[in-house]
Amino acid sequence: MSRRKLVVGNWKMHGSRSVNAALLDGIVQARPFGCDVAVCVPFPFLSETAVTLSGSDLRWGAQDVSSHEQGAFTGEVSAGMLAEFGCRYAIVGHSERRALHAESDQLVADKAKAALGRGVTPIVCVGETLAQREAGETEAVVKRQLSAVIHTLAHCAGEIVVAYEPVWAIGTGLTATPEQAQAVHALLRAQLRAAAARADEMKILYGGSVKPDNAATLFSQPDIDGGLIGGASLKAADFVAICRASPA
Ligand code: PEP
Repeated sequence: MSRRKLVVGNWKMHGSRSVNAALLDGIVQARPFGCDVAVCVPFPFLSETAVTLSGSDLRWGAQDVSSHEQGAFTGEVSAGMLAEFGCRYAIVGHSERRALHAESDQLVADKAKAALGRGVTPIVCVGETLAQREAGETEAVVKRQLSAVIHTLAHCAGEIVVAYEPVWAIGTGLTATPEQAQAVHALLRAQLRAAAARADEMKILYGGSVKPDNAATLFSQPDIDGGLIGGASLKAADFVAICRASPA
C-alpha cells in the first residue's frame, strides 16, 4: 500500500524568535513538497509558529503534552491548551523524555490518550538503547513500548503516528541502515495490524541522524513512511533537502 510520506522536524530546545522566523521562511519558500511536512517546536513558539504557517500547508506540533486534563501540574501543558489554537501533533515518549524525565511506557500511553482525546495526533516514539540492541532485545523493547500505547488507546490505536528512533542513533551521527530500520518497522507494522484495522494506512516514521544524504534510501523502504528529524531540522537547507528526498 502506498502511504503519503510525513517528515517532521523536532527542534528540541533550540530556537529564538529571529532564528525561527528565518528557518520557517526557508521551509515555506521551498514548497511545495511531495510529502506532508511538520515542525514540532518548543511551547513558547507554538503560537507564533501557528501564525507564521497559517495559509500554508505546513503543519506544526508540540514536543510533549501532559497526560492530565488540567489542574495543579506546574509546568505542564494540556492537550486542550494545544488543541485550542490548532496544534496538529504532539511528540510523546521521545527517548530524551523517557531517559531524562523517567517517563514510563504507561505515562507515554496516557499522554497519547490525552492528545487524541483533544484531536491532537500523538507521534509516539519507541526505540532501543545500544545496550539493548547488543543484547538482542530490540524487538522486545519496541514491542513493549508500543504495546502499552495500543492497550491504553484500544479502538483508537489506529489514529497515532509511530516513530521508531533507535536511541543509539539520535544525535550521534550513527544511523540505522535502511535494512535495520525496515526490519524494526516491519515488526511494528505487524504489531499494529494485530491491533488496528487501519494499520496499513498508519505512518511509521524513522528517526536517528537522518540527513540529506541518507534520507532517500531510508524513506524508500516499504514500511518507512517518512522521518522524525532532530539536528538536521534546524537548518532550512538540510530540512528542505530531506523533505525533497521523500517520494510522494
Ligand atoms: C530526534 O531527536 O528525534 C532525532 C531523530 O534527532 P537527530 O535527527 O538529531 O538524530
